[in-house]
Amino acid sequence: MRDHHVVESREWQVAAYCPEGVPTSEHLKLRSFQVSLGGDSIPDGHVAIELMFLSVEPYLRATFTGTNDGLFFPQLPLNQVMKTFGIGRVIGSKDSDYNEGDIVLNPSSPIAEYCVTSSHLLRKIDPSNGIALPDYLNFLGVPGFAAWVGVEVVGQPKAGSNVFVSAACSAVGTCAGQLAKLRGCRVIGSTGSDHKVKLIKEEFGYDDGFNYRKESDFDAALSKYCPDGIDFYFDNVGGEMLEAVLNHVNKHAKISLCGMISEYNKVWTERRGIRNLLNMVGKEVKMEGFVLDSYWECFGEFAKQMEDYMKQGKIKTKIQINHGIESFLDSLASLFSSSNVGKVIIQLNT
Ligand code: NAP
Repeated sequence: MRDHHVVESREWQVAAYCPEGVPTSEHLKLRSFQVSLGGDSIPDGHVAIELMFLSVEPYLRATFTGTNDGLFFPQLPLNQVMKTFGIGRVIGSKDSDYNEGDIVLNPSSPIAEYCVTSSHLLRKIDPSNGIALPDYLNFLGVPGFAAWVGVEVVGQPKAGSNVFVSAACSAVGTCAGQLAKLRGCRVIGSTGSDHKVKLIKEEFGYDDGFNYRKESDFDAALSKYCPDGIDFYFDNVGGEMLEAVLNHVNKHAKISLCGMISEYNKVWTERRGIRNLLNMVGKEVKMEGFVLDSYWECFGEFAKQMEDYMKQGKIKTKIQINHGIESFLDSLASLFSSSNVGKVIIQLNT
């Protein structure tokens, strides 16, 4: 255990709720605190952690709207630290299962540089097992698991079927497309820049794709890129694209509702309503939303399969590392502007 010492740690707090629009420095503030890391100041069953990597997740947006619109995300109290999935190094411990130097994953990590936290949620990571640490926040973390649940559990598209994935170059989208390809499907994606269209085709095995920001008519784009209709839609964006997809579904199509990021910055009464749900009746479509909290019992099976795929080079990952705790606000905003490529992770100055 290190001698008693105090460090300056910066952390992101919600200063004001943001019901609509992209959050700014008016809503989220970086504040400095002194954190005591010495043995005397760590309670029993707790460890002190120096954070190394923090995951920037779209769901964080829903935790400070300040509104209750039926979603399951509780709103963060004002002026308290925000939390996400993080990886850090133990630098002090009052739990005999954890030693200084251990690398741990915390699913409820403060978005901070240092913390003292209860050890009950932590999971140790072996840094020598051939997997880069940021991958535990990407395909071996929330995005990979969401793609796996949406494809392998909810959708289960058959070989030869026509699959469409929106936000195809996002963390989830890059994984979902590759999983569908491994099942032998024809996979088409939509994404927000020409560069990303190129990437999904050249790096992630998509058969084809289009830049939705250049298409004035999503219906026409889907007629062109999915001429045989859609058997399985992995929905990351909702709104206008979901409505267009419902005009192109084949009989007994399945839709996995993973997320609806095109609508996250709007209050619910302003979100785009889907006018053609009737198509679900005529085409006998099954549409199912999911949240990972309901699937944790499958996590072991998922992690084993994903790790194998990654080690065998069957699945490629793309991670965008942004540096420094101060980059969090811009990193979060980048998820809504098509400027991020792959999984956005913040690397701290360690
Ligand atoms: P990400 O890597 O953080 O990227 C988000 C992407 O969304 C952006 O790169 C952007 O890509 C796209 N986007 C942003 N605004 C958009 C708009 N107005 N219209 C269309 N696309 C837009 O995202 P992720 O972590 O992969 O998450 C993807 C989706 O999965 C999100 O909806 C997220 O909420 C959901 N998710 C759900 C679960 C679950 O348990 N159900 C778990 C994890 C994630 P473009 O360049 O294509 O615009």
